[in-house]
Amino acid sequence: MKTKKKFNPVSEINQNVASLKPEGAYRVLDKANRLEAEGNDIIHLEIGQPDYPTFPNITLAGIKALAEGKTDYNPSRGIPPLRKAIADHVAETRDLEVSPSEVAVGPGAKPLLFLTTIALLEKGEEVIYPDPGFPTYESMIEVAGGEPVPVPLVEGNGFNLDIGRLENSVSSKTKYILINSPGNPAGNLLSHESLERIARLAREEDVFVLSDEIYSRMIYGDCEHRSILNYDGMKERTIMVDGFSKTYSMTGWRLGYAVTPEKLAEKIGYLLTHSVGCTATFTQYAGIEALEGPQGRVKENVRRLEEKRDLVVERLNDVEGVTCNTPKGAFYAFPEVSSFGEPVADLSDYLLEEAGVALLPGTAFGPGGEGYLRVCYASPYPRLEEGLERLSEALST
Ligand code: PMP
Repeated sequence: MKTKKKFNPVSEINQNVASLKPEGAYRVLDKANRLEAEGNDIIHLEIGQPDYPTFPNITLAGIKALAEGKTDYNPSRGIPPLRKAIADHVAETRDLEVSPSEVAVGPGAKPLLFLTTIALLEKGEEVIYPDPGFPTYESMIEVAGGEPVPVPLVEGNGFNLDIGRLENSVSSKTKYILINSPGNPAGNLLSHESLERIARLAREEDVFVLSDEIYSRMIYGDCEHRSILNYDGMKERTIMVDGFSKTYSMTGWRLGYAVTPEKLAEKIGYLLTHSVGCTATFTQYAGIEALEGPQGRVKENVRRLEEKRDLVVERLNDVEGVTCNTPKGAFYAFPEVSSFGEPVADLSDYLLEEAGVALLPGTAFGPGGEGYLRVCYASPYPRLEEGLERLSEALST
């Protein structure tokens, strides 16, 4: 009789899924919450979400939709009035023509990054992406059976992508180049020259560009957002992902979108059908109000974030051994701390345990983040100031 191997559910998990790692921000948040539950006073500078609530007009639009019974299934790619509002918004902000048939709505920007990757990648195909970069990038590429090809950001160049390395990294297996500007974790903006070179490369090598523009409205000073969609011949090979989480402080509503060539939008729609079904109906009505309602609060919040950025950069640079570039967008500072001679994973643990300040080691965003910490400054004033004081003290002892 054949002896039967003992069933081991863990070893049965698909290899690409078995190697998934938690997102650093959630790991630190869990630990910070545990310390808080034990009675410690923790200042949260780790998770990337604004400290202001969803704007009241948006919340009311969601409540109204719920009260009107808008709680049923809806088209997988999003309700038509929201797709129209998104197409109009992207057309206006990126100065190009966009049709609702090129829009796919999903529960957050993340699922659209993920499903686009599943829609595009064949096993073994390569994706070029920034290191340090948003940790979902590497995970989604691996789950889809692709090969992640990280390209470093260069600090001396305002954390711009190393475009020379990027150009040398393209191979016959490259399927798409992923860019994120303004970027997480370094708050960097891709320069016009970099975007032009990436666009040229994409055209010459016939590859797609996946452009994560979730921080497109969070830009400071006289800097401006440029989308790769605007570069010659790029609309037909770009998947642009944006959403509502950051701009309108709607992280828990779960609402994001992709603008893609129509055929691809259709296939992403089927992936949405067979994975999430559709995005909550009332959330989408709130999204219409977000885009079509008054925008004054967006401007006001960005102005306040800019003040916080300036404060954080100044205070961090005052600490001996810390150098902090001035980020141009998003709401993260990315100070360099290698002079402390410790791996940043240990340093951030020390700062959480000893100073009660939760922030992220740069390595939560890839090996290129060694030597850096990520500080989310979208945090209420007195706490942010206290956090900076505690950091300064802990790093000075
Ligand atoms: N892209 C980047 C670069 C992000 O930082 C985040 C959120 N931290 C997302 C995408 C995901 O946004 P959403 O909440 O819309 O899924």
